[in-house]
Amino acid sequence: MKSPKSILALVVLALLSTGLAFAGDDKKESKAAGCCARAEAKGEKCGHGCCAEAAKDGNNCEKCKGSGKIEKKEEAKKH
Ligand SMILES: [Zn+2]
Ligand SMILES: [Zn+2]
Repeated sequence: MKSPKSILALVVLALLSTGLAFAGDDKKESKAAGCCARAEAKGEKCGHGCCAEAAKDGNNCEKCKGSGKIEKKEEAKKH
């Protein structure tokens, strides 16, 4: 016999797990735009105006297929 309480617990668990899944989707993956990644590989800065504008805000250029925030490399050096 299933008690109403255990069914309620299952519903709450289901709601919590979907909530967590949504929270996970909200966090964008940090991905540099292809043009910026190529320029960086050569030790240069991407010449696109759209990329420069996005970089001012610390973002990867979404117009050039980038996403999320620019990962700061200085932080890795501290370790
Ligand atoms: Zn670029
Ligand atoms: Zn761009």
